[in-house]
Amino acid sequence: MTNLPSEPEFEQAYHELASTIENSSLFEKNPEYKKALKVASIPERVIQFRVTWEDDKGEVQVNRGYRVQFNSALGPYKGGLRFHPTVNLSVLKFLGFEQIFKNALTGLQMGGGKGGADFDPKGKSDNEIRKFCSAFMRELSRHIGADTDVPAGDIGVSPREIGWMFGTYRTTVNKWEGVLTGKGGSWGGSLIRPEATGYGLVYYVDHMIKYASGGKESFEGKKVAISGSGNVAQYAALKVIELGGTVVSLSDSKGAIISEEGSSITPELVNEIAAMKVERKSLSELANTSSHKVTYKEGVRPWKEVKVDVALPCATQNEVSGEEAEALASSGAKFVAEGSNMGCTKEAIEVFEKTRKEKKNEGVWYGPGKAANAGGVAVSGLEMAQNSSRIKWTSEEVDEKLKGIMENCFNNCLETAKEYVTPAEGELPSLVAGANIAGFSKVAAAM
Ligand code: GLU
Repeated sequence: MTNLPSEPEFEQAYHELASTIENSSLFEKNPEYKKALKVASIPERVIQFRVTWEDDKGEVQVNRGYRVQFNSALGPYKGGLRFHPTVNLSVLKFLGFEQIFKNALTGLQMGGGKGGADFDPKGKSDNEIRKFCSAFMRELSRHIGADTDVPAGDIGVSPREIGWMFGTYRTTVNKWEGVLTGKGGSWGGSLIRPEATGYGLVYYVDHMIKYASGGKESFEGKKVAISGSGNVAQYAALKVIELGGTVVSLSDSKGAIISEEGSSITPELVNEIAAMKVERKSLSELANTSSHKVTYKEGVRPWKEVKVDVALPCATQNEVSGEEAEALASSGAKFVAEGSNMGCTKEAIEVFEKTRKEKKNEGVWYGPGKAANAGGVAVSGLEMAQNSSRIKWTSEEVDEKLKGIMENCFNNCLETAKEYVTPAEGELPSLVAGANIAGFSKVAAAM
């Protein structure tokens, strides 16, 4: 593609979007969008900086910080900050690129961006994390603002970290403004923001189930495998349970907990796990302490462990392989939707899309992250609106708006897929094509 060093994650995200668009009638109907895709593939600006901070022993530590300001055609750059040792420019370009189209699918005026650092919060004291956040924001503060670029959380960055960064921004720039979202309530954070990605994912899948069954089915009685155990996985699990589904797994980077035959993951267990996460404990510790009927399996992901109706990857990118996708499809799973960004590998998506075409309603219907997990950034957009108009909506108001946004997002993906990639008789429309074409068209028109 270029003379740049290889950027595997970004190239994967770019080719996934470009290939669905090229295989549709979009360019035929809008020839000028071909150039827009080329232009949109290059970030408007990439900022890289050094973050030095002092650890508890008084030693100087150094990390690499980044902000990719990818596209501002629809509004201020918007997207999270990820603190994780795997962070590099390729990962942040993939996340920023996805974010452009995800944000467009919310229907709100937000551009796309992403940032973060290769800092590993694991094994660091609270004091060290606070110092890192502050040092990171001292650098980043000169490049962001409520009307230019509004970061939020992502992996490794929770409301606590956002709070430390918000405090540094406010005192460095000497101004209170909604420059970060995902803030705590007392600094202008929106109600429902912590729940939003998980809830929104379940609202999106609920529409998938209802559409595929002609309105006859819902989450009621469905068995659901979830990976991850962070904020997205926790709230997705709680919402599935609330809607009458059964959650059979959660996981972390070291292994998975699988509910024993005849039992399931309860809200009490999800709350216990949430408390463990705050203390940065691993799920393996649950095996010895919990009275819940779950088995901890080291080194496994949930996809081949239990027969389920719905699979929700909510951990990180590329967490469902082609082989795991085959296992899900042949065990009868009907719905897969990503709470994580690019949760499925290219091979896994190919498996799902093939079964959707070949087995029609008996295949797997795949909902891509840029649509299915858009609820998080959607409520971030609502937080920006509340901050700039100096008001605060109730939980019910925010949840209603979130439901409306997820419904519009689903219908937009569906109708766009029908229009640009005509499905064969009896075939469910491709939501991956629909999401890519709908998100891209909106951005291309604005550009
Ligand atoms: N990190 C989240 C995402 O991937 C949220 C971004 C935001 O709220 O700005 O969409």
